[in-house]
Amino acid sequence: MRNTPLNILMVASEAAPFAKTGGLADVVGALPQALQAQGHDVRLVMPWYRSVRKNSGPVRKNRSSLAVPMGGAVDTVAFRQGALGAVPVYFIDAPELYDRAGLYGEEGQDYPDNALRFGLLSRAALELTRKISFVPDIVHAHDWQAGLVPVYLNQHLWRDAHFAKTGSLFSIHNLGYQGQFATEALVGLGLDSSLAAPDRLEYFGRISLLKGGIRYADRISTVSPTYCREIQTPEFGMGLDGLLTSRQTHLHGILNGLDDDLWSPATDPALPENYSTSNLRGKAVCKAALQDELGLQPDPAVPIVAMVTRLDSQKGIDLLIDTWQTLLDRKIQLVILGSGAPDYERALTTQGQAYPGRVAFSRRFDDKLARRIYAGSDLFLMPSRYEPCGLGQLIALRYGCVPLVRATGGLADTIVDPCDRTAPANGFLFQEQTGTALIEGLDRALSTYHQAKAWQTLLRYGMQQDFSWQRAAAAYSDLYRRILSDRSG
Ligand code: ADP
Repeated sequence: MRNTPLNILMVASEAAPFAKTGGLADVVGALPQALQAQGHDVRLVMPWYRSVRKNSGPVRKNRSSLAVPMGGAVDTVAFRQGALGAVPVYFIDAPELYDRAGLYGEEGQDYPDNALRFGLLSRAALELTRKISFVPDIVHAHDWQAGLVPVYLNQHLWRDAHFAKTGSLFSIHNLGYQGQFATEALVGLGLDSSLAAPDRLEYFGRISLLKGGIRYADRISTVSPTYCREIQTPEFGMGLDGLLTSRQTHLHGILNGLDDDLWSPATDPALPENYSTSNLRGKAVCKAALQDELGLQPDPAVPIVAMVTRLDSQKGIDLLIDTWQTLLDRKIQLVILGSGAPDYERALTTQGQAYPGRVAFSRRFDDKLARRIYAGSDLFLMPSRYEPCGLGQLIALRYGCVPLVRATGGLADTIVDPCDRTAPANGFLFQEQTGTALIEGLDRALSTYHQAKAWQTLLRYGMQQDFSWQRAAAAYSDLYRRILSDRSG
């Protein structure tokens, strides 16, 4: 059993490079390939969104269609086959549901039929396995959009021979998004209305598809060990801490990896000059170019503090805005790339304009500029209120941009402060979600920055750390095998 290759079906609403709104896409874009490299047969199912077409590579439309039992009727959808590296990807092609401008909504408004859009994805993914003669050992479903996969397995397919041996894993990438709908949505999803009960899918008078995944999957995982503990507390549990605690023996924290090929300062074509630990000259070139590009004073000695982030309360933007003046009393330059909540966008625009040549706020999503910021900056700030894993700090480490982060979730699991004498330091941590704590952390970081040798040691260590997907894929393999041994035991 230990090394037997498994048939793994992944179901997710996004995967890089096909469609991305956040870290979920990075995980689903990398994990299937890392699992395949370990010998497993992995298949991915996701929607054929309008935006996928331009990123999909060669795709072939399957001639036969797929019958999906939904809400008393049977929906017929088409599917297409593409690939993620050598992993087959099946796109569910239902234009009335997915041929739209957004993935989940437009102009800040969720699509009203999201329950049906992602319920159908979940049900279709399971039906599709029959069409392609793939008997899954494990179905691995991600976030609320695939939360109904374990529910359908449990409610509709438990006596179905095709799924007799199938185990399920449900991964939580962010508990902040629960997939909440009116209880009436159950009918259209082909699910019994009795599921709208507190020990099932009911969530504050509605239903939550995320809760469905947590309640019905064989095991549950989330994306860092610390976040795994935090979500079992009322402070971080978003009302689901009771359920998560009741399932704690089946709840696991596996830290995400970072794709070394996609994120490397030695090869990144977006940088004005590439660099590595053996030749850091290019990093100084990137800093000068960034100051020039963003209209900052050209000064190699002044530390650049950067943020690349969604502008969301999760990310602690309020802390930044509240401590703005104290922060800029320090001799630093501040670079922020981000978009999101209009209030934050307005505040950062106004406050930024008061410091010409010292603050650059770019209000957009721009992958290439993000890369130049990671490369050209000295410190990377993440004052997150909560952070399931966090990718920003891992990228910053690789690019020699030293993280200054709040000790929560995956940030606490990946960043080691010089005060912690049990392991080599790679950044700076502050504990409390307060401006005072942030400034205290910043002052410690700046004092090290001005000790060139100590700074180099910290920066080089971070650049060389291994956060590859191999380790995470091995942990998922072990977890899949535990699920199967639970079921056979
Ligand atoms: P989350 O998934 O919660 O948004 P993560 O830190 O896990 O946060 O991942 C964020 C990813 O999105 C990183 O790759 C980061 O560089 C990227 N990103 C965030 N905002 C922007 C932006 N405005 N422009 C370009 N990339 C961004």
